[in-house]
Amino acid sequence: MYDVIVVGGGPAGLTAAIYTSRAGLSTLVLEKMSLGGQAALTYRIDNYPGFKDIYGAELAADFEEHVRDAGAEIVLEEAVGFDFDKEVKVVRTASNHYETKAVILALGSERRKLGIPGEEKYTGRGVSYCATCDGNFFKNEDIAVVGGGNTAAGYALELADICRTVFLIYHGGELPAMYSLRKRLEKRSNIKVLHNREVREILGSNKVEQILVGNLKSGETETVKLDGVFVAVGMLPNSDLLPKDLLLPNGFIQTDEDGTTALPGVFAAGDLRQKKLYQIVTAMSDGANAAHSTQIYLRDSFEK
Ligand SMILES: Cc1cc2nc3c(=O)[nH]c(=O)nc-3n(C[C@H](O)[C@H](O)[C@H](O)COP(=O)(O)OP(=O)(O)OC[C@H]3O[C@@H](n4cnc5c(N)ncnc54)[C@H](O)[C@@H]3O)c2cc1C
Repeated sequence: MYDVIVVGGGPAGLTAAIYTSRAGLSTLVLEKMSLGGQAALTYRIDNYPGFKDIYGAELAADFEEHVRDAGAEIVLEEAVGFDFDKEVKVVRTASNHYETKAVILALGSERRKLGIPGEEKYTGRGVSYCATCDGNFFKNEDIAVVGGGNTAAGYALELADICRTVFLIYHGGELPAMYSLRKRLEKRSNIKVLHNREVREILGSNKVEQILVGNLKSGETETVKLDGVFVAVGMLPNSDLLPKDLLLPNGFIQTDEDGTTALPGVFAAGDLRQKKLYQIVTAMSDGANAAHSTQIYLRDSFEK
């Protein structure tokens, strides 16, 4: 039996595993694909302190070396079932059944996609899902933000400080973003809100050059020339397999800053948590906090 199983080998899970291993707790990391999570899939990262510009794959390789060095066991298997009812918890994969005293859930989330032609082709070449991550690559350029909620409005405001023109494209009438954000959008002369519009295709050569936009009221279609498209239409937490009593209605896990969940001995970290800023550094901070809480839980419950 392990002291702790960390499910998910992204920045949150790997940080948690470094902390628990270094605290002398036997630690298993279960990862369904490859270590590093979304960070490993990101081409370039320029907001990770200490590295002005680093390839995601390079950072992920460094994370892996650190985790292995700290003594965690890593198994590349997908967790497909969880039993958290008893003091000894069980995590199942297709071929194994692992017992543990505590679990740290760090399964992350995925950005919701538009599902239109060109989106996949130009991801990383003008299509982005994160203004905080990629805004700086579009200095003085024209971009679009797709969406109308708080995240989309926040992206538009953030990008208006960097880019020349920001088209905020929303398929409905009034934006669902909160009043204060809507008022701030109105004050920015370089933000143009396009209501009742739908982006139908992203076009370009090597990178994004224009988008095809449908007007849902008039039925007309127009092309807009630009350099980038930021998609902000929601995040999907990887929580389908988790017990429902851990989850909020939107599928994220509600925790305190210390990573404790509604179930004793079950902790959560990273993009799976309900929080305001989804970044590598915040995921890592969550991982460290969840590991620390796990240590306290094991000491109190198992005199570890
Ligand atoms: C395109 C893009 C660019 C980004 N750029 C930046 C950036 O420049 N700077 C920045 O700070 N942040 C960036 N982010 C955000 C950052 O990558 C995430 O906030 C961070 O990776 C979250 O870490 P995490 O460990 O919580 O989740 P993830 O990175 O999502 O890792 C979760 C891991 O869990 C695994 N997993 C899921 N389900 C299971 C299962 N059932 N069993 C086993 N394993 C499972 C997944 O395979 C994955 O490896 C970017 C995100 C995206 C999508």
